[in-house]
Amino acid sequence: MEAFTIGRNLDNSYVINDNTVSGYHAKIIIDDTDYTTFTLKDLNSSNGTKVNGQSVLSKKIDKNSNIEFATATVDVRQLFEQLENYILKNRVDFSKEFFQLKETERKYIKEKQTINKYFKLRSGLIRGGITIGLMILVYNNAYIKSIEGIRIYLMLGIGTVGGIISTASISDKNVKNKLEDLYIEYSEKFNCPKCDFDMTSKTWKFWKSKKNCPKCKCNWVKNTSNN
Ligand SMILES: [Zn+2]
Repeated sequence: MEAFTIGRNLDNSYVINDNTVSGYHAKIIIDDTDYTTFTLKDLNSSNGTKVNGQSVLSKKIDKNSNIEFATATVDVRQLFEQLENYILKNRVDFSKEFFQLKETERKYIKEKQTINKYFKLRSGLIRGGITIGLMILVYNNAYIKSIEGIRIYLMLGIGTVGGIISTASISDKNVKNKLEDLYIEYSEKFNCPKCDFDMTSKTWKFWKSKKNCPKCKCNWVKNTSNN
């Protein structure tokens, strides 16, 4: 990425309107591997650059640094805000963040399966409980006992009856809500790391094969070609 330039001239990335500041006073080199390491370099300015009170030609800076260009003290918070905007606008390689989305997708699928599995298990337990309860009831009922032959048919039919009652009694609203919440959480994360383009319609593997974001064109896969 091109360096972020600072100076009095209007075509700098960060313009300082102060006569003691040189036209092109300094620049900030942005580390392309993490985009969070910054080196401030003085561009042979007339009145120099200071970091934390020391005159410097080249110095690593962060949000807590005290920076002066000639006699102008910089609002570091504002400088870094502009620097971050500059990075977001100019950065094209988002392969690291894109790769992390593979894990986001994996977790979503796994959690979805867990919810469905738990729901099936719970349904099975309720069905079993109702069936056994009905069996005990019928088996011990004196009236049914007195009618010869009917008990065996009732016992045979109870499995089906238990199934019907349990299906009717279990509301799957809860599981639906849980799956919806999970999907919302996933859809908030499964986006292009640069422009938030929604990727939930297809799998991570599909998007990987595209290599670039269809919306902002940033690189999702490290660009190995020469263009
Ligand atoms: Zn994008």
